[in-house]
Amino acid sequence: MILATPGPVEIPLFVRETFLGETIHHRTPEFKEILLETLELFREITHLPYNVFLSSSGTGAMEAAVTNLVKEKALTINAGKFGERWGKICKAHNIEYKEIKYEWDTPAKVDDVIAAIEGDKNIDTLFIQICESAGGLRHPVEEIAAEVKLINENIIIVADGITALGVEDVDTSNIDVIIGGSQKAFMLPPGLSMLGASEKAIERMGEGKGFYFNLVNEIKKQNEGSSAFTPATGHIIALNTVLKKLKEISLKNHFENTAKRHKALLAALEEIDLSIFPQEPALSMAAVYFEKAEELRKIIKTKYGVNVAGGQDHMKGKLFRINNMGLIEDYKMSHIINSIELALDELGIRKYDGSGVRVYSSEKLKV
Ligand SMILES: *Cc1c(COP(=O)(O)O)cnc(C)c1O
Repeated sequence: MILATPGPVEIPLFVRETFLGETIHHRTPEFKEILLETLELFREITHLPYNVFLSSSGTGAMEAAVTNLVKEKALTINAGKFGERWGKICKAHNIEYKEIKYEWDTPAKVDDVIAAIEGDKNIDTLFIQICESAGGLRHPVEEIAAEVKLINENIIIVADGITALGVEDVDTSNIDVIIGGSQKAFMLPPGLSMLGASEKAIERMGEGKGFYFNLVNEIKKQNEGSSAFTPATGHIIALNTVLKKLKEISLKNHFENTAKRHKALLAALEEIDLSIFPQEPALSMAAVYFEKAEELRKIIKTKYGVNVAGGQDHMKGKLFRINNMGLIEDYKMSHIINSIELALDELGIRKYDGSGVRVYSSEKLKV
């Protein structure tokens, strides 16, 4: 079965193999060296000075960012399930927040964010997704962050980059906190989240908040090569291997290849008359609006061994989402596209003629 969901993604053999080694104790010079090296490698992805790994899925890092950073009031952007989550976290901790809501296909607008901030002086932290995975939508985070900082440089900007870090080179010059997740672009099993923080974010956090998810405490410890609690050693060792692999390919090449594969994938899907759902598609996936999504998913899973994700909430049955994160071989993507085209034929929607793979190949192999 090809796992073609936009998280979790397939774990390559070279990553799985790292879990076969002997257990390393975390309070040893051997592990200290690996941890410090992995943090250093991860810094090249976030471009932020303070980095930390947390033993939780991505949501744990989202929660830690909310609890450690908001002093008065949060502003949250909700254009899907993950944007909605910021508000749920605030609610769970009795943190005051204002939410700006958009349709799942619509990117946040700079003007809306600015108006909200100018209209409420209590807002001190902005929370937004770079890619909102519910609809495969790319928010103009860099532009929003730059404009917000022009108005008030003390507003902390937190970007959920769980389906953006490792996918593209995110410009974090105006971003204070960026969050990543192991099971997305980093090709690891679920269970590790990563967070990068700016000098300003560290200042804002003061002593930190909470116990296990006290970011100040954990960042301080990890940057000394230690950790407050037992870290997810296996995941960190595997992440080290992944980051070295990406460096070997070169991050530039990896990001270019991801962007090129995305362009080819979208062109192929459009060639077989499918509609891309978001107004601004993110590079991490292709989200397709399709009224018979569940029938199509069933056909490609049972007949062709391809598992793509469906839609959530009100988009259930109307959307399917194909992963574009990680290292995906062309033969796999070709098979995914071909199985979708075959399913369209079986559903009586479009006669199969191999156009999908033809367009994918010619776009992808273009120099
Ligand atoms: C997957 C994902 C998350 C985190 O989900 P977990 O299940 O907690 O790992 C958060 N934000 C986005 C955009 C995601 O795609």
